[in-house]
Amino acid sequence: MLRLDLTGKRAFVAGVADDKGYGWAIAKALAEAGAEVILGTWPPVMRLFDTMLKGGKFEASRTLSNGEKLEFLKVYPLDATFDTPDDVPEEIKENKRYKAYAGYTISEVAAAVEKDFGKIDLLVHSLANAPEVQKPLLETSRQGYLAALSASSYSMVSLLAHFGPIMNEGGAALSLSYGAPNKAVPGYGGGMSSAKAALEGDTRKLAYEAGRKWGVRINAISAGPLGSRAAKAIGFIDSMIAYSMENAPLAKPLQAEEVGASAAFLLSPMASAITGEVLFVDNGLHAMGVAIDSRSLNA
Ligand code: NAD
Repeated sequence: MLRLDLTGKRAFVAGVADDKGYGWAIAKALAEAGAEVILGTWPPVMRLFDTMLKGGKFEASRTLSNGEKLEFLKVYPLDATFDTPDDVPEEIKENKRYKAYAGYTISEVAAAVEKDFGKIDLLVHSLANAPEVQKPLLETSRQGYLAALSASSYSMVSLLAHFGPIMNEGGAALSLSYGAPNKAVPGYGGGMSSAKAALEGDTRKLAYEAGRKWGVRINAISAGPLGSRAAKAIGFIDSMIAYSMENAPLAKPLQAEEVGASAAFLLSPMASAITGEVLFVDNGLHAMGVAIDSRSLNA
C-alpha cells in the first residue's frame, strides 16, 4: 500500500505564530502523517502565540483526524534575520519584545535543537517580511529592498546552512513562495517579488549543494492567496482571493490544508526523487494567460 508515512521523522517548522497561516497547516499535516514537530516563532509575537496556545485558543485547529491533539515538542524563539549573537544590534536586545528571550539567532536555535532533540529530518521555512511591502518597487528604498531579501530569502539559505549539518540523510526542506516572480502582481511591493525570485532560484542551487553535501532534498511551494495574518498586513489579500476565485481553473477558495498536504508530500519519501522544484499549489491560477473576468474581454 502506498502511504504518506512520516512516523519517526522530526520536523522543524519556522514561521508559526497562530493557526491561520501556511506554517501551521504544514505543521499539522506533518503531524497527521506521524512526524514530531518543533516550531520556531518570531520573538515579537512569541508571547501572544504562547498565551493563545496554552490558553486553549487553538483547540479546534489542534484536533487531528484521529481525535488526538497537535502537540509541539518545543517552541523556540527565532528571528531569521540574525545568524549569530554578534548580528543582533543593541537596540533589538534591549527592545521589550525581545528582552525576555535569548538564543533566538539561527545558529543558536540550530544548536539548541541539536542539544535538546538530536537530529531532525524535515525543515520548513514559512516566513517572510518586508518593511516597505506596501510601496511599489520603484519607490522602495535600498534598505527596504535588502531587508525584504534578508528576512524572506537569505533566511532560508542560513536556516539550511545551520540545520543541514543536523539533518538526517534522506531528509528534506521546503520554503513557501508566491507567483510574483513569474508575473507582475501590483501591490506586492517593497522588494517582496524580488525576494521570492531569489528564494525560488536558491531552491535549485541549494538543492544541488544540499543534495551532494547531506543527501537532503530542497523544494518550494508557490502558493495561492490565503488570508493569513502576514497577508492581511499587506492589505489587498481579499481582492487577490476574489481574483483567484474568478479567474483560476478551480473556482474554489484555497485552503491552507491543501498547501499543508502538498508540503507533506514533498517532504515525504513519496517525493524522494523530487528536488530543486517549485510546485504551484494555487488552484491553477498560474496557468492562466488572461483574466477571464476582465471587462475588456466583453467589450
Ligand atoms: P503567517 O503570518 O502565518 O506567517 C508568516 C510568519 O513569518 C509569521 O509567523 C511571522 O511571525 C514570521 N516572521 C516574520 N518575520 C520573521 C523573522 N524575521 N524571523 C522569524 N519569523 C518571522 O503568514 P503566511 O501567509 O502563511 O506566510 C507564510 C509563508 O507563505 C511566507 O513565506 C509567505 O510569503 C508565503 N505565502 C503566503 C501567501 C498568502 O497569500 N498568505 C501566498 C504565497 C506564499
